[in-house]
Amino acid sequence: MSKSNPGPQHWSPETFRRHGHAAIDWLADYMTQVESLPVMAGVKPGDIRNQLPGQAPTDPEAFEDIMSDLDTVLVPGLMNWQSPNFFGYFPANTSPPSILGELLSAGLGQQGMLWQTSPAATELETQVLDWMVAMLGLPETFLSTGVGGGVIQDSASSATLCALLAARERSHTGSARLDGIDSAMVAYCSTETHSSMEKAMAVAGLGRSRLRKIETDKAQRLSVAALEQTILEDLDRGLKPIFVCATVGTTSTLAIDPVDEIGALCARHHIWLHVDAAMAGTAALCDEFRSIHKGVETADSYCVNPHKWMLTNFDCDCFYVADREPLIAALTVLPEYLRNEASEKGDVIDYRDWQIPLGRRFRALKLWMVIRSYGVKALQQLVRKHVELATNLAAKISNDARFELAAEPNLNLLCFRMRGSDRLNQRLLARLNESGRLFLTHTVIGGQFAIRVCIGQTYTELRHVDAAWEEIQSSATELEGEGQ
Ligand code: PLP
Repeated sequence: MSKSNPGPQHWSPETFRRHGHAAIDWLADYMTQVESLPVMAGVKPGDIRNQLPGQAPTDPEAFEDIMSDLDTVLVPGLMNWQSPNFFGYFPANTSPPSILGELLSAGLGQQGMLWQTSPAATELETQVLDWMVAMLGLPETFLSTGVGGGVIQDSASSATLCALLAARERSHTGSARLDGIDSAMVAYCSTETHSSMEKAMAVAGLGRSRLRKIETDKAQRLSVAALEQTILEDLDRGLKPIFVCATVGTTSTLAIDPVDEIGALCARHHIWLHVDAAMAGTAALCDEFRSIHKGVETADSYCVNPHKWMLTNFDCDCFYVADREPLIAALTVLPEYLRNEASEKGDVIDYRDWQIPLGRRFRALKLWMVIRSYGVKALQQLVRKHVELATNLAAKISNDARFELAAEPNLNLLCFRMRGSDRLNQRLLARLNESGRLFLTHTVIGGQFAIRVCIGQTYTELRHVDAAWEEIQSSATELEGEGQ
């Protein structure tokens, strides 16, 4: 009798439990210690890779050895995004309920591409996204109970691409639908719009050159007059305007485009309006900041990233459409092996038709765990606290004659400069980041280099912002002392 192949040796449930507890303990320790770790990794290119073996191990290695390498090899090479002293880019904050939601999602191993492949993943996602409509004061057209609805995408970049594909689809008529690209199509955004818009044009096959980057006003908001003029010129040339991307909270300065006016213009010309509220949209949790969504009811689509400022770890982008038909028409392909009764009856949502890939993770689980574990009130408190910290810091900066604000502070973001040259400010930023005690990034406003401070980390307190301000001041004094 032939002996059957024994297959791999898996961890037993008991081993998994033991190592799992150790991994959570490790993360709890990391959360406690991250504050004292350098925010920016002090390594050179290749430093980490040089410590890793050139070949994969042939035989099993002990969990303890792997964790030890995590500590000694990998942690020194991390940018500590979860440090309360991280003020760079936009935050990518997380929280204990989110981490556990992610862990449970991995353990459950769901593939929610069809309702049938995971009814719970599908229906939880629909429900939580409907909750978010009310939480953020979004228009009811985005509710799944009408002809629109929401879906979780991996990122705002994917949301923009899906919106553009839906707009492309809608702009075709009759038998031309699903036939793809019409070389007369053009799209619009501002010079401040996130680069994912340009990438979407390339990926959607419309071409980067068919994206018109419209100038902004002094407050970095898209100029509606310039947009209208460009649309009219394009129409005169026989081109077909199909898409405008407006931003609620630009990456550089958190400027908020006049969505209501842009929406009215888009409606006149039957152009799809997408609103990208990647980070700032979270502020609409609070009544006092809800005006950032003024005009969103005119949009065909909208997105916000709980993975930036809403305590939900990457990736989690909530993407809404006012009419799901063109989105589904653009993205549906039904091979025989996915046919099933529920889909055929049309009673269910199959989220594979709302995104680019087929397979999909159970991302709603972590978002649901965050919203339930904190409750909406605590999420509002988080936003209020960060905005207050940023407002106070902006006041201190304006009161110090050595510095100036480089743009009007918006919500939790401010941009400043040390009075002097760009070179001086570049040196200041480099010095601050090399200290490891905080991390900031930069932008260019009106042709001038400016340092950005975005306050959005889960555990950032007044003392961290105060320490950052002291560090900025003392580095400025050092630079002055060096005669710069
Ligand atoms: N839109 C805006 C305004 C952003 O600032 C960003 C990233 O910071 C994005 C889109 C892209 O986000 P994601 O990484 O989710 O694609």
